Amino acid sequence: MDILYKSTRSDTEGITASKAILKGLADDGGLFVPDRIPELKVSPSELKDMDYKATAYEVMRLFLTDYSEEELKSCIERAYDEKFDDKDIAPLKKVGDRYFLELFHGKTIAFKDMALSILPHLLTTAIRKNNSDKEVVILTATSGDTGKAALAGFSDVEHTRIIVFYPKGGVSRIQELQMVTEKGRNTKVVAVRGNFDDCQSQVKAIFNDEELKKEMASKGFAFSSANSINIGRLIPQVAYYVYAYGRMLKEGYIKDGEEINFTVPTGNFGNILAGYYAKLIGLPIGKLVCASNDNKVLYDFFETGIYDKNREFILTSSPSMDILISSNLERLIYMIGGSDAVRNEALMKSLKEKGRYEITGDMREKLESFAGFYSTEEEVSKTIKELYTKDGYITDTHTAVAVNAERKYRESLGDCRKNVIVSTASPYKFAKSVYDSIKGQSSGMDDFEIIDKLEEMSKVKIPPAIHEIRNAKILHDEVCDREGMKDTVKKSLGL
Ligand SMILES: *Cc1c(COP(=O)(O)O)cnc(C)c1O
Repeated sequence: MDILYKSTRSDTEGITASKAILKGLADDGGLFVPDRIPELKVSPSELKDMDYKATAYEVMRLFLTDYSEEELKSCIERAYDEKFDDKDIAPLKKVGDRYFLELFHGKTIAFKDMALSILPHLLTTAIRKNNSDKEVVILTATSGDTGKAALAGFSDVEHTRIIVFYPKGGVSRIQELQMVTEKGRNTKVVAVRGNFDDCQSQVKAIFNDEELKKEMASKGFAFSSANSINIGRLIPQVAYYVYAYGRMLKEGYIKDGEEINFTVPTGNFGNILAGYYAKLIGLPIGKLVCASNDNKVLYDFFETGIYDKNREFILTSSPSMDILISSNLERLIYMIGGSDAVRNEALMKSLKEKGRYEITGDMREKLESFAGFYSTEEEVSKTIKELYTKDGYITDTHTAVAVNAERKYRESLGDCRKNVIVSTASPYKFAKSVYDSIKGQSSGMDDFEIIDKLEEMSKVKIPPAIHEIRNAKILHDEVCDREGMKDTVKKSLGL
């Protein structure tokens, strides 16, 4: 029987995975969740000898049940190919006594590539499967990394257009350059005067604008989302947790069936939720440590059971985690609330109207797989320096948030299970913050000079993604206000 996807906000009938991927967000504003959790069909010892693609197939076939074997395998083949600069796709590295799962070997050197290199294939397959004749318009809000990864994935993909909104001044120089130099003919990139939450909430509002939807439909367009609210992004991410476990076994770091922890630098809660799905399908995972930066709304939530976004928004050196509304948390809230759409809807309404909600004691008990910790800017900086000095390994700022949070977790709870740090970006993407952390002061050097220095220091070759933007022409320079986003969309579609 097919796994169907239901909204977190109403008890309407479920739809197939391919339909859920096409829609992105449910009509009632809720997120799609699987109506039951499947079980991993391979044992840990079998995982040991599976490569990334085989692992991805084993995981994705469990959730995306209306895709045929041939369809899924074809999507996987086309996604995880030479676009990645490491044959393992997601290499596991042991550095000192730490394990890093490096998810930044794709086209745009951040972990978003893991899902966004396959989403366009899943989506175009879904268009075919459902005999849709609509042109899919991908609308995306980005805190920096999703934007370029989505642009790269959808660039010149037929039957699709993509519009990306990013917060002006809220992303790193390299991130911005990657986006505004995008060449795809079906792409549009717009800077918004506001922060990521402004971009994200406005994109959601545009999605739910009934009048606009009708107008779009009459012109042959339909919206979808490349944000991690799309189930087509979440499910492919489950694969690398399973893959990491196989690598840990293969290298002899753990015994068959031994529980391991993962620490995940978290913003929108998509990555870590995929880790939770991996645990639910039967992967031996102990704790999932949710690492936050100074925007520690999730840390406070795990501490108190109160989610409260009413606070100052802080721009940090890990901009992809500068988020106060973690969209994917809704999927977890729905689950721990007993898959009760009415209960979830009430909490989300409270979040929308009052900026906060509080969960009950019985719901809190179901959060035992998680631990929340956070790292200050000073700690992040110190961590980067220490790792380089001690082990000669350079991490980006987001990964450093996790390294420090994991240390705090281990020291305060004395958990000695092995831990894998989910490493989400290449240090080259956040070159200035990384370099200044190691040097202990602001260098005043240009980003590209710093990149050359980092290459000398780390002995890790500068990835093609950086070479590509060095001298690229700026092709997108539009800026708008939050209120102007809808008009920008309409204009770009000729409505
Ligand atoms: C997006 C991103 C994160 C946060 O991931 P979520 O799935 O949104 O929690 C962390 N680090 C980097 C580098 C990212 O690009």
